[in-house]
Amino acid sequence: MGTSYRVTVPATSSSDESLLRAAVRAELELVDGLMSTYRPDSELSRLNRHRSSEPFHLSPPTFAVLAAARAASAATGGAFDVTVAPLVNAWGFGPAGATVPPSEELVASLLRDSGWAKLLLDPAAGTARKAEPRLQCDLSAIAKGYAVDRISAALEELGFSDHLVEVGGELRARGSNPEGQSWRVGIERPDTSGRLVQRILRIRDVAVATSGDYRNFREAGGERYSHVIDPRTGRPASSLVASATVLDASAIRADAFATALLVLGEDEGLALAERENLAVLLIVRNGENALRETTSSRFRATMSLGSP
Ligand code: ADP
Ligand code: MG
Repeated sequence: MGTSYRVTVPATSSSDESLLRAAVRAELELVDGLMSTYRPDSELSRLNRHRSSEPFHLSPPTFAVLAAARAASAATGGAFDVTVAPLVNAWGFGPAGATVPPSEELVASLLRDSGWAKLLLDPAAGTARKAEPRLQCDLSAIAKGYAVDRISAALEELGFSDHLVEVGGELRARGSNPEGQSWRVGIERPDTSGRLVQRILRIRDVAVATSGDYRNFREAGGERYSHVIDPRTGRPASSLVASATVLDASAIRADAFATALLVLGEDEGLALAERENLAVLLIVRNGENALRETTSSRFRATMSLGSP
């Protein structure tokens, strides 16, 4: 998945540790093996090469992630859309990352061939069908959250119900930390200079995902391009939201919504948070070097209770 991970489980013996390591690795390998766009042999890469409107059979995990992606697309008015894959590449991100910004004609044509509603899922058959054969999907914005949920469930099943799981910055807490308290996690300050902490959250039994434009971006011709694409324009998201954090029971949902909030920006993003009753913290650029925070009512209610 091209990223790092960390799993914390209090007070384990060395035999527990090897059991835990094997379980964590198995979940990560499963998700990466099925859903990586960097692996030509992954199920997702095969779906992307399937240039046809005939049904394509999927394993239950890939089907589940595509179904969650579709639900997030519907809930966000298409701001979250995994079918932006060719645009991600055209803007220099993803496996076939281009080096110069695409022409307007190319953006327009890639936009015409994308759109989440063109991917039709049949739960009974376990298949996906492309209404547009050129359709391609990139699950980078949601697969880490899914891996976090899977690892957390696997640990739970092994009897380790106190844990903190983090994959590439998306995380999920269960129970309490080694000191018997709620887990403490830091929300990074969204600037490129260093790794400062903007805020510490105390959490228990909740997932937290953060999307930002401050780490993964490209520069060309003096312009800065975010790795999150606005599916309405086919161009990199350009809102003033520097980072979006979402707390939710499920990491996959938090991950998807965090990405969507970068696309939607402050006003539309907060409206979405209120509509979906989501706990959201946005860090918004405020002039040259200043940042300010804005939160949804669910976030404020959650924090005033001490820990969710
Ligand atoms: P990160 O991978 O940095 O944690 P995200 O979870 O926000 O960040 O995912 C961003 C990735 O998702 C991009 O690199 C790209 O592959 C893909 N992507 C870009 N725009 C969108 C979008 N509007 N909807 C869904 N996926 C997107
Ligand atoms: Mg995301």
